[in-house]
Amino acid sequence: MAGSSRICPRCGRSEEEVEFIGPLCKDCYVEVYGVARLPEKAGFVYCQYCGRYKYQGGWNEPSGTIEETLLDYLSIVLTRRLRPIENIVEAWIGDIRLDREFTGPGIYNAYVRVQGRHGRVEVVEEKVVNVKADAAVCPSCTRRITKRGYNAVLQVRSSRGRLSDSLRERVNVFLSENLSGRLAESIIGLEEHREGFDILVDDPSIARMIAAKLRSNFMAKTIETFKLVGRNPDGSRKGRLTISVRIPEIEPGDIILVDGRPYLFLATSRGGNLLLVDLERGREEYMSSDLLWQKGFKPYPGGVELKRYMLISRDKNTTIFLDAESGYQDVVEVPSNSVKIYVDKFTEGREYKVFQAGTKIYVVKDLGDG
Ligand SMILES: [Zn+2]
Ligand SMILES: [Zn+2]
Repeated sequence: MAGSSRICPRCGRSEEEVEFIGPLCKDCYVEVYGVARLPEKAGFVYCQYCGRYKYQGGWNEPSGTIEETLLDYLSIVLTRRLRPIENIVEAWIGDIRLDREFTGPGIYNAYVRVQGRHGRVEVVEEKVVNVKADAAVCPSCTRRITKRGYNAVLQVRSSRGRLSDSLRERVNVFLSENLSGRLAESIIGLEEHREGFDILVDDPSIARMIAAKLRSNFMAKTIETFKLVGRNPDGSRKGRLTISVRIPEIEPGDIILVDGRPYLFLATSRGGNLLLVDLERGREEYMSSDLLWQKGFKPYPGGVELKRYMLISRDKNTTIFLDAESGYQDVVEVPSNSVKIYVDKFTEGREYKVFQAGTKIYVVKDLGDG
C-alpha cells in the first residue's frame, strides 16, 4: 500500500498523511516557497481631522475608525499587489491585523493571512508587512480650518428676531441627516451669530441646493445677493453669493395670523406646502409657503383667546371640559360634534390648548396630564 505513495523529501510524510504540491507536501511547499509575494512595506497617509486617506492621488472616504480604515486600505493595496507563487493558481488576502492598537502616526507591523489554492489543495501563509502611518490634513479640512475658499454663505435666521434653540436644533438634525457626500463636503464651516448662524459653502451651486432643501422642509424664504469681494488672479471679478434663509418660527399646533385671520398650523407637506385650519371658517386648507410669506404672518397674540381645558368626559353627544384657568371651577359642556380635534391623543384627564371660534372648539395642542 505504501509502495506507490509519494514521500515528502523534506519532512518524510506520505501522501496518505498530507496533501502534496509538486514534489513537496503542502506544508513544506509553503515553508520553502510561500503562497504569494507581497510588498514588504506599505505607506498610509490619513487626515488627522476627518480620517480620509490618500490613495491613487486622491483622498478617499474613511471606513470607520482610523484603524478600520487602515485595515481596509491594506486589504485593497495588498490585493492589488499580490503575486501568487508558481503552482498556486489563485491567492487572496484573508485576515489582516496590527501588532498593536493604532495610536497615531508611526511604524506598525501588519500580520497578513495570505490564502491560496493549488487545485483543491488549500494553503495559508502568514506574512508581515511593515506599515508606516503618517498624519496629514486633507484639502477639504484645510479649507475648513482656514475658512478660506468659501464662495457662498447661507445666512440662517428666523422670522422673528432670533433663531430659537429648538428651531436651531431641528435645522441641525435636518442638515446632518439630509446632506450627504458632495453637499456635506462642500460645507467649510459654521459661524455663530446672535440672530442665527451662517453656513459657509465652497460651491455656490451647492449652496443653492442646500437653500432649496431648507425652503421645502422649513418653509423658508430665500433671497440671493451677490457681492464683489475682489479680483481673481487672472483679473476677473471675484464674487461671493449670499443667500438669506428665513425660517418661520412656527411649529405644528401653533396658531398664526395670516392676513389678520387666525389659522392653526397642522403640518408641512412635501414641497413646502402648509396644512392649515382656517379657524374662523372651520376648514382645512393647503397654502404654499410662498403665499404665506407674501400674505405675511405672525404668531397669534398669546393667552387671550387660547384657553387651557382639561377633558373630563366625552361621548357621542356631549363633551365636558374644565377650564384650567378658572382653577378647574368652570364646567364647559358642548355638543361633541362641535369639538374639532387636532391632537394625536384626546383622553380624559389630559389638558389641551383650545381655540374657540363661534360655536366650535378646536383642540390644537396636547399639554399632557394636568
Ligand atoms: Zn513535507
Ligand atoms: Zn480631512
